[in-house]
Amino acid sequence: MAFYAAPVARLIEELERLPGIGHKTAQRLAFHILNQPLERTNKLAKSIVDAKRSIRFCSTCYNLTDNDPCIVCSSNRDKTTICVVQDPRDVVSMERIREYKGLYHVLHGAISPMEGIGPEEIKIKELLARLKSNEVREVILATNPNIEGEATAMYTARLIKPLGIKVTRIAHGIPVGGDLEYADEITLARSLEGRREI
Ligand SMILES: [Zn+2]
Repeated sequence: MAFYAAPVARLIEELERLPGIGHKTAQRLAFHILNQPLERTNKLAKSIVDAKRSIRFCSTCYNLTDNDPCIVCSSNRDKTTICVVQDPRDVVSMERIREYKGLYHVLHGAISPMEGIGPEEIKIKELLARLKSNEVREVILATNPNIEGEATAMYTARLIKPLGIKVTRIAHGIPVGGDLEYADEITLARSLEGRREI
């Protein structure tokens, strides 16, 4: 680090803390920022601080928002269906397909005994509280198709079913453009399980 002036070294160090940014990339970004006009740098710094200051959880669905309730919760979307996801980024993915018209619930994680994350650490009780309104008829569990996501889906389904609400799980299988030959056994078994009539 002695190769850089101290402020440059500090900038590189901060950039390196970001996910997916190694030393080389941090260095490249730092020099890019230094080459920009001060006005651009101010905009970047301001947008980071503004986003951090104004964004909070929606008190209904726990997605990130600058207005509470969020734009989805306060819209006239189908309030009888809630899609449960692990992460705010999953809401973005679901919205991108423009197919889903219901509401969301963001758990902010998945049950993981290995990492000491129990059901209390994620927003499951907040989901159950929402279901008491009697408006919801279906909960779609769209947690990730891995061990933690499956465990979370199973656990949540067990709590919801006694309420008389339909619980569904997103189908998992061969990705579009994929090849049966290269699919692992679990994926192949799941896609067989989730088959539908055509
Ligand atoms: Zn919301």
